[in-house]
Amino acid sequence: MSHLLFREDAYLREADAVVAAVGEAGLEFDRTIFYPLGGGQPGDRGWVVLPDGQRIEVVDTRKGETPERVRHLLAPEANLPKVGTPVRLELDWARRHRLMRMHTALHVMSCVVVAPVTGGNIGEDRARLDFDIDPALLDAARIEAETNALIARAVDTETVWITDAELDAQPELVKTMSVSPPRGAGRIRLLRIPGIDLQPCGGTHVRNTAEIGAIRVLKISNQGKHNRRVEIALVDPG
Ligand SMILES: [Zn+2]
Repeated sequence: MSHLLFREDAYLREADAVVAAVGEAGLEFDRTIFYPLGGGQPGDRGWVVLPDGQRIEVVDTRKGETPERVRHLLAPEANLPKVGTPVRLELDWARRHRLMRMHTALHVMSCVVVAPVTGGNIGEDRARLDFDIDPALLDAARIEAETNALIARAVDTETVWITDAELDAQPELVKTMSVSPPRGAGRIRLLRIPGIDLQPCGGTHVRNTAEIGAIRVLKISNQGKHNRRVEIALVDPG
């Protein structure tokens, strides 16, 4: 079992850790800043720095046998450290921060398009949500303008924990039908963007919506009777 540091602080770019397990399925550490693939957010990439300075690339991160275990996948030719080796973990922060901006942008957009979310995916260059909605209600220019207006409020995001029973009493909190809420140890993690969104989420988010900048809607497409896809990108300054 690994201490999941990213759940408490998504801004940790580096951390000391100790190798806890070594196998073909990847390295595990006593603690980690690497987010494992899940909830539509890709697994982190980065580096493991050994005591002699050798840098091993982490090419992907996945959940292990339990959600509290995280497997750090290495390039096939990597020299594997032994269990007990103290290491330094370093994230590919530029990539992770883009994913955090994209991820938080989807939370905001999910409040502009009022419909059940049937799917979603986050990438570095584009992200999408699928909605079960009448396509006549989807207007790219309106979605873009309203999402950007909410982002521009520059509100701080908050992590809130509630019990399983509290979530069961408020099923309307669960907007995303394809992703079940991250449950564990009887409590559920929520992301709250005050005045905008509140929903269960185990992913990593920016501290303030202003960090997102702005988004543009790339495309709205038909992915089946109950699936209308809205794809967005970040508008990067400069
Ligand atoms: Zn989230």
